Amino acid sequence: MLVTVDRGRCCSSGQCVLTAPTVFDQSDEDGLVEVLQPTPPAYLAPDVRLAATLCPGRAITVT
Ligand code: SF4
Repeated sequence: MLVTVDRGRCCSSGQCVLTAPTVFDQSDEDGLVEVLQPTPPAYLAPDVRLAATLCPGRAITVT
């Protein structure tokens, strides 16, 4: 699993951080998403996929 984000689409809603807090964070500087674990372990896959689904900016890609 590879997690990538398009920070240009992020609207700082924070849904990803609430859903998968060990994978996503928000920058203290601009509030935009940051990926803490681009290749998270398999057990986090459901949370990461849910975060991508919930993201209002469609900024998260999981491959
Ligand atoms: S859920 Fe989407 S729009 Fe909200 S902070 Fe995360 S990446 Fe940005």
